[in-house]
Amino acid sequence: MRQCSFTVDVDRDVNQACEGQVCAVSAPRDGSDAPRFASSAKGLETIVGVLESLDVKGTFFFEARTALAISRTVDLPSLMKGHEIACHGYDHEDLTGHKSGMPLSRAEVDDVLERSMSVLREIFGGMRFGFRAPYQACDGDIEEALFEKGFIYDSSKVRSLQDGPIWPYRTPSGIIEVPVASGIDPRGKKIVGYLWPMHEGKRTVDDYVHLMGQADEGLMVIATHTWHMIENFGTGLYSKEEARRQKDLLHGLLSKGLDMGIELVRIDDHLADNGVRE
Ligand SMILES: [Zn+2]
Repeated sequence: MRQCSFTVDVDRDVNQACEGQVCAVSAPRDGSDAPRFASSAKGLETIVGVLESLDVKGTFFFEARTALAISRTVDLPSLMKGHEIACHGYDHEDLTGHKSGMPLSRAEVDDVLERSMSVLREIFGGMRFGFRAPYQACDGDIEEALFEKGFIYDSSKVRSLQDGPIWPYRTPSGIIEVPVASGIDPRGKKIVGYLWPMHEGKRTVDDYVHLMGQADEGLMVIATHTWHMIENFGTGLYSKEEARRQKDLLHGLLSKGLDMGIELVRIDDHLADNGVRE
């Protein structure tokens, strides 16, 4: 059975790294780049609704600050029942400092990871989580910190299906890596499993269906962001019709995957059933 994990980053709306600042900002609106969470909250409900309508489960990487903000108005444990809860930092920190120009010490990285886990445990329960680094910015030092803090796996890297089936594997630091898939589109150009260009109107559902068709054995990971169901970088907040269309695009993509015989599974369930290829 071909397996695919649909993964979702639940982070602040249209986030971007800010030079000289560890924490991320939201794309400026009305003259302010203060973090916003409303689109992320709404988009989370949309995505969970799509998954429920297809009777499949996903893996959700929660930024702790966003989880706290959403939990003020949404009963998160009940909404997320059956889905995998994973971790995406506390304030969407650039852990390597490459984008923000603010590298973190190991003690600061440890502190971010501990505080993030503690928020997720408080809201959802559970003890161990998977991790995806904000901006997918992860290196050997971060992997080592994740391993030592007891994370189950990291899913920050990208690996191409052109090199053969993608299996979760153990990195030299000890942590299991579950890479996001990339492949080629129908025109032979590189396509990454993040749905970002689809939400921005730069790629079609069929491009991603073509990518999913390249999955064989192993685990294909695709990804998106909750806020991208409600707004994007190019045009800002969607109209009601556009938000509805975005929901239909996602539903169309996942249901085509199921029609192709792909099983949609949580990452942790895949690992429990299949282990890793060392
Ligand atoms: Zn993120």
